Amino acid sequence: MKSCKIKISGRVQGVGFRPFVYRLAKSLDLTGWVLNSTGSVEILIQGSEANIRNFIDALIHDPPPLSHIENIFEEIVEESTYTDFSIIKSREDKGFNFISPDIAICDDCLRELRDPHDRRFGYPFINCTNCGPRYTIIEDLPYDREKTTMKVFKMCEVCNEEYHNPLSRRFHAQPDACSVCGPHLWIDSLNIPESNLFKEIGKLLYEGQILAIKGIGGFHIACDATNESAVERLRNNKKRRSKPFALMMKDLDMIRRYCYVNNTEEKILRGKERPIVLLRIKDYLDLSPSIAPGNLYLGVMLPYAPYHYLIFDDFDRPIVMTSGNLSEEPIIKDNVEAKDKLKNIVDNFVLHNRNIRNRIDDSVVFVEDNDLTFVRRARGYAPDPLKVSIEVDPVLALGPELKNTFAIGSGNYVFMSPHIGDLKDLETLDVFEETIEDFIHLFRINPEVLVHDLHPQYLSTEFAEKFKSFMKVVPVQHHRAHILSLLLDRDIGDPIIGFSFDGTGFGEDGNIWGGEVFVGNLRELHRAAHFKYFPMAGGDYSIENPKRIAYSYLFSNEIEDNGNYLPISPLEKDIIKSMIQNKKNIFYTSSCGRIFDMVSAILGVRSVIDYEGQAAVELEMCAMDSDTSAVYPFEIQKGSSLEIDILPMIKKILEDRQHINRSIIARQFHNTIAYIILSTAEILREKYHINKVGLSGGVFQNRLLLNILSPLLKESKFEVYTHRRIPPNDGGISLGQIALAMKGV
Ligand code: ZN
Ligand code: ZN
Ligand code: FE
Repeated sequence: MKSCKIKISGRVQGVGFRPFVYRLAKSLDLTGWVLNSTGSVEILIQGSEANIRNFIDALIHDPPPLSHIENIFEEIVEESTYTDFSIIKSREDKGFNFISPDIAICDDCLRELRDPHDRRFGYPFINCTNCGPRYTIIEDLPYDREKTTMKVFKMCEVCNEEYHNPLSRRFHAQPDACSVCGPHLWIDSLNIPESNLFKEIGKLLYEGQILAIKGIGGFHIACDATNESAVERLRNNKKRRSKPFALMMKDLDMIRRYCYVNNTEEKILRGKERPIVLLRIKDYLDLSPSIAPGNLYLGVMLPYAPYHYLIFDDFDRPIVMTSGNLSEEPIIKDNVEAKDKLKNIVDNFVLHNRNIRNRIDDSVVFVEDNDLTFVRRARGYAPDPLKVSIEVDPVLALGPELKNTFAIGSGNYVFMSPHIGDLKDLETLDVFEETIEDFIHLFRINPEVLVHDLHPQYLSTEFAEKFKSFMKVVPVQHHRAHILSLLLDRDIGDPIIGFSFDGTGFGEDGNIWGGEVFVGNLRELHRAAHFKYFPMAGGDYSIENPKRIAYSYLFSNEIEDNGNYLPISPLEKDIIKSMIQNKKNIFYTSSCGRIFDMVSAILGVRSVIDYEGQAAVELEMCAMDSDTSAVYPFEIQKGSSLEIDILPMIKKILEDRQHINRSIIARQFHNTIAYIILSTAEILREKYHINKVGLSGGVFQNRLLLNILSPLLKESKFEVYTHRRIPPNDGGISLGQIALAMKGV
């Protein structure tokens, strides 16, 4: 008879680990105990040596499906004898916490939800140890019911029995509940009996109502996606003119009516994370034309909360499911706040009384070349840690301004926050600060280093300044952070040629960067190439007006807009001219994103935008109608740093514009950007003897560009790296910022 102590760390809480250990110990005739401590599960087992061995083997090779073991530590100890095996009280301890993301309803629960003989038949909050809310309901750790927002629901006798019965699927399932004792769903201001609730929701949707529906991580705004007037009304109410809306569809059959779905996409759509997947549109059929105007992709997800399934029982059409927020603010999570802020947007509220402690948006992904790319890493994925190859001091990285996420890290783990929003107003800043506090507390990391973006005017920089007197505060340039993110994301230790192409970022020379190429590794990155600077008249205002960017470019290069292609008034022209001539209110930029904007405007695809990236997205869609392989001329001027000049291309585009279909021009433009990258990489390979190429930044969310570029780079025998675990856009920057806290630097 031996006693063995085992300590397991990783994602082992909230995933049914203790019940699993309990059943396993019982089946092997072992006695002792299991408990949750901060960040790990501790076990004491007593029994024969062979059975202890079998126990450990099973732990390693056959753990619960949602768990993820990072480390397992075992030692033989001397202990007094136990006569039984039990789950004992949780203990607070030093060390990391891992928190499980929220998991879509599992097949077993779905079966019970549908079974008229089950006591949870039709219960909107059914869950078990293998599914349900986790991160969103956790107030503190260790993960126990009293430390979740479920603490206010006292379990009924039957639930309580299940909770304590090791043979039940709900043994120690913290969010366990039933219609007798658990949370409830209702339609605000309508007095509908529970038995009729979903019929009524279906009826309201069929009637064209816009509903705010409280979800798992926050509110959705929903309406019938086939009802043009409802969708139009939602656009007007939300002041969101054309940014695509995500849809929820009943099942894969429904999705396949509208979209192409390959095997990888199907797997991801059905996965326990249930993200929104961007799918190529097959046929719009009865969908409202204003769901995703000018786009060839639809963002679609399958139901993931039990009540989503119940809604589709009484509603047989695709549903618009957009985040319940105002423009780029954080998603709303509380009933009172929703009723206040969304009252002018929606007709009715579908509320529930399970509090959301931690807000989180739906994740957004796409599949290209059988690889998953994140556009937004949130529900289902965050706050799973990212393991990195370097050791960092305890650090907080504040992230970028747009699509903000922040990250905290220590040792070789990084916890990236879910999507926060655009860090431009105090409302968002509040949520940013709140979430930082929560992360520091939940993950028990006390930052000693604070990393922020170089931009002197960002709210995050102001935030960082406050800490200067009592901790190390380090700024980092935006595009360097993109490449550092990629190096950490893909675990690249060797030197790389890193393309950091996006819309905007404050440069080290005071100019606005956005078309940068770096050479180096995690310790040292050297700016080796960039697009030639061009003046942008009018700052942020011009970003919303691609036609102004185009006109600034043409005027400063003394090119005439002979065909008058830009819808720009003589007055606007004069303003831009005088700004450039007097060097007043102009910025110099090397932004690749702005080059996309400029070409989009010259081609008349999009001259004024109402969401970030719109001009480039619509240019990409326009280019997809052509398959030309022609390339425009460009120049790469050699010097200590290469300068990429697109002037020859722009001149040719203006000529072509007069007699060539704009899809062909748009496609040829995409080809040219791909060849610019290839040529730059080839020159730098020659110079630095580096064969790895990395692509980071929002420009690399352009699937057409990726499709043209990857074969070119591969043909030229480059090893190509794109993002896998985090988005290529600014949502991934905070990971790279973490590298500034590398130990020993
Ligand atoms: Zn379940
Ligand atoms: Zn109950
Ligand atoms: Fe960026």
